[in-house]
Amino acid sequence: MSVADNPFLNLAAAQIAGLRPYVPGKPISELERELGIVDPVKLASNENPLGCGEAARAAYRAEAAELGRYPDGGAFALRAAIAAHHAIAPEQITVGNGSNDVLDLVARVFLHPGRESLFSEHAFAVYPLATAAVGATARVAPARDHGHDLDAMGALVNERTGVVWIANPNNPTGTWVAAEPLRAFLSALPDHCMAVVDEAYFEYVGQDDYPDTSLWLDQFPNLIVTRTFAKVHGLAALRVGYGLSHPDVAELLNRVRHPFNVNAPAQAAAIAALGDQEHVARSVAHNRREMERVSAELTSLGLSYIPSVGNFVTVDLDRPAGPVDQALLREGVICRPVANYGLPTHLRISIGLETENDRMLAALARVLDRGSAVTPK
Ligand SMILES: *Cc1c(COP(=O)(O)O)cnc(C)c1O
Repeated sequence: MSVADNPFLNLAAAQIAGLRPYVPGKPISELERELGIVDPVKLASNENPLGCGEAARAAYRAEAAELGRYPDGGAFALRAAIAAHHAIAPEQITVGNGSNDVLDLVARVFLHPGRESLFSEHAFAVYPLATAAVGATARVAPARDHGHDLDAMGALVNERTGVVWIANPNNPTGTWVAAEPLRAFLSALPDHCMAVVDEAYFEYVGQDDYPDTSLWLDQFPNLIVTRTFAKVHGLAALRVGYGLSHPDVAELLNRVRHPFNVNAPAQAAAIAALGDQEHVARSVAHNRREMERVSAELTSLGLSYIPSVGNFVTVDLDRPAGPVDQALLREGVICRPVANYGLPTHLRISIGLETENDRMLAALARVLDRGSAVTPK
């Protein structure tokens, strides 16, 4: 974009000029509006297809009586619930308007022009955005097998590195790093460098050597772990997440946090969601079952994919994904092209309900002309 497109560009901070906004999954309403598609299937934003649990919904509804009041700016009850859940102190918690908000707070506190922000190729798009917004320099380590290569990342750490970001598992690749290499990586990080381990899909991962880094906070004072209520808890609409860290780190993050960044219904629903581990278990079991089935069907369509431990799978179409995505949209199936992640032939597909996955698989077979692997219902 040039000054001819937007005359105010001249007035904006230098780091904003080159910023490209985050591209979210296409909303259902937009597809209905644009293409007149009735009842499309959205598998584009890694949402929980079961939605939230009943307890969270009831807690949200109960807040409707108090909409005239500001929320608790310190999120006392929510932080207490999170603290109990992790067996840590409330002073170690920073609440966010989604965990995205916490990632931004980290960038604002620990990055500035002249400092470097280090992440992997194909890593979550918010890291480069948060970096650019504060005028820091992005350093991108090459990926290995689409996932984070901790050796390559470690080799780029220097005296200017302010923050290292590790998505575990990563979106959009679904790849993950194991406990021992991650522990070694964090141990080798210099004291002047903060490490963010983004565990947005934590609950979905079943691998034995997948680390719960919330248990490592005592060992690594420069570690910040982020979690969200948007994924397995099914509360994406409410925007609530949190960071776990050393209390001194949380104190700095809370200095720049907007006082009412998590609204009252969101706080109430999140507390209820944490208490409803049955819903989490149900959601994880559903995901595992359908992930297995969808993966097998993709294979029988002759498609390869990046093995994923999340609630989505990223398929290699072996051709530019854009036209396939457009054709799927016309079939009423919304997926997520990931060319902006350096994966131009891949398409990220969230694991939906059984019927949604069937519609996606049938549409994919039609669009790719592979003959339907799934019998239409
Ligand atoms: C979805 C996601 C988030 C969380 O987003 P919210 O702001 O909590 O909705 C964070 N990190 C990754 C890698 C994600 O995919």
